[in-house]
Amino acid sequence: VRYPVAERFVAPQGEGLYTGVPMAFIRLVGCSVGQKVCTACDTDFDRILPALGGGVYTVEELRAWVRASGVRHVCLTGGEPLDRDLRPLLRALTDGPVVCHVETSGTKHPDWLDVITPPRHRQGQHAVAFPTEREGFVHWEWMPLWVAVSPKPGYLPEMVEVVADEVKVILGGLGDGPGWPTVEDAVRWAEGPATVYVQPRNERLDINGAAMREAVRVVTEHPTLRLSAQLHKYIRTR
Ligand code: SF4
Repeated sequence: VRYPVAERFVAPQGEGLYTGVPMAFIRLVGCSVGQKVCTACDTDFDRILPALGGGVYTVEELRAWVRASGVRHVCLTGGEPLDRDLRPLLRALTDGPVVCHVETSGTKHPDWLDVITPPRHRQGQHAVAFPTEREGFVHWEWMPLWVAVSPKPGYLPEMVEVVADEVKVILGGLGDGPGWPTVEDAVRWAEGPATVYVQPRNERLDINGAAMREAVRVVTEHPTLRLSAQLHKYIRTR
């Protein structure tokens, strides 16, 4: 199996609960949401960028790259990584002391994510199980998986309320159309199992001071929420 990768790099995670944790980022090409909806999208996902490590890679090549980096966390992002069947890649990457993270818009709910079991999920042992057939029997393969949902218009409620380990609500959204989650949505979701962040609508490569101040105001007014500051835009990594 081969995956088209726009770019790949190792850097501290800039968003959410794992902020500051070094991760190997694999940015897959393509997004079914698209920049007509997210007019302020800040990622290059629509083409392979060879100068930034992009290319069409086999599962083995990506696993070797992650192993060589020495990091313990891999982030599959995009674009929309759930536009593709990630099982072969997840199987290969988690064959070792590595936790996989998936960053998604919440607009896709593939069948293979249906088998997350709530009890394990709630105990913080985040995992996904894949049914596979060997020697005529169905076996279950368990893999650690962290699902970060940043809901975009068309998001599926169950992706936010059941599947997500963390939810990142971008204040004001990334576009002017309908369907973006609100602060009220974030506060309601924070009553559920996921940790819920609000994130400012920053510039493409830089922070926006006014948006950050508004995000700080929102989390101080609604203390069940947390602030996701986009650390990478402060420390100038990707
Ligand atoms: S879902 Fe994410 S990657 Fe896709 S267009 Fe929107 S902001 Fe960009």
